[in-house]
Amino acid sequence: MTPLGRLIAARIAREGPMRLDDYMQTCLLHPQHGYYATRDPFGAAGDFTTAPEISQMFGELAGLALAQAWMDQGSPAPFTLAEIGPGRGTLMADMRRAMRVVPGMGDAAQVALVEASPHLRQVQTEKLGAVTHLDRADDLPEAPLFLIANEFFDALPIRQFLRVEGGWAERMVTQADGVLSFALAPPMPLPRQGALGEVFEDRPAAPAVAAQVARRIVAHGGVAISIDYGTWEGRGDSLQALRGHEYDNPLAHPGEADLTSHVDFAPLAAAALAEGAAVSAPVPQGDWLLSLGIAARAERLAAAGDAGAAAALHRLTDPAAMGQLFKAMAIWPRQAPPPPGFAPLRDVAPRNHAHDA
Ligand code: SAH
Repeated sequence: MTPLGRLIAARIAREGPMRLDDYMQTCLLHPQHGYYATRDPFGAAGDFTTAPEISQMFGELAGLALAQAWMDQGSPAPFTLAEIGPGRGTLMADMRRAMRVVPGMGDAAQVALVEASPHLRQVQTEKLGAVTHLDRADDLPEAPLFLIANEFFDALPIRQFLRVEGGWAERMVTQADGVLSFALAPPMPLPRQGALGEVFEDRPAAPAVAAQVARRIVAHGGVAISIDYGTWEGRGDSLQALRGHEYDNPLAHPGEADLTSHVDFAPLAAAALAEGAAVSAPVPQGDWLLSLGIAARAERLAAAGDAGAAAALHRLTDPAAMGQLFKAMAIWPRQAPPPPGFAPLRDVAPRNHAHDA
């Protein structure tokens, strides 16, 4: 068992079984032993690779999409250029470089990064120079907000409920002799239909983040684009642990494996709509990047000698790679045009409005 695993088992022995969101939060962000608090998990030497770490094209196109939206809204200055969960800072660096083609945008941008990990804050400062770090989305300034978040929501902790006779039983983490295992709490009623055996995942902190972002965009203008792997509605048990690019048992290496689950976009959209913002349906990442011109950009890079451009294009856009599983969703003011690559969703759609093929 890892050092954090021993601490968790001792706490469960004292206090009783732990909720899954509490377990995930502890594993990811424990100040001494948490996964993000202690390491840089990205890239070939780490546990997983994200789209901006695959190719500069991802950040360039995301930056140009935000730049087009900024111009469409009258080039407000100053404005907040924000990212939630910036990892190594690669995405922000690529976005800022691409935005240099837009006169005045760089000077008007005040960069704000929402980051929970002290270690990654340091990595980001080394990469980006002086930036403002914030603890939470609630701390974002009251100003026009142009925001990106890649693989942020999937790292927010979830609760899981199993439909059993008599209601929904929450999945808890328990222990015996220092070994962690899952157990079910007694069933309780939830305002939700479900067949016996169905698993429902709830991400309690996510809608409030979407609402904070949407409220600023409605009040001051701006756009938010969030890219994550997931579906319009949940798809059962999707908790996964990744360690050294391999799937791991989520209870096996607390603090040493990345824990994520599929993002359910419907509650994010509902929270933004409730604030009066326009939102898009989740667009498959491949479709979104292709509509922004990634194929032409890959050709240019290849012609300039970038030997990896074609493979990166494939990885980011092919439906069998990241192109279909990952989705992009945007939030913007109702009176403004949608940002490039997005169309408005009229209402919170009924079940299965948009889901994986
Ligand atoms: N966007 C980056 C990194 C994704 S990993 C990329 O695409 O490469 C998730 C990021 O979110 C990390 O930077 C992690 O430290 C941060 N994070 C996780 N939980 C957080 C929270 N509750 N608040 C703020 N940041 C968080």
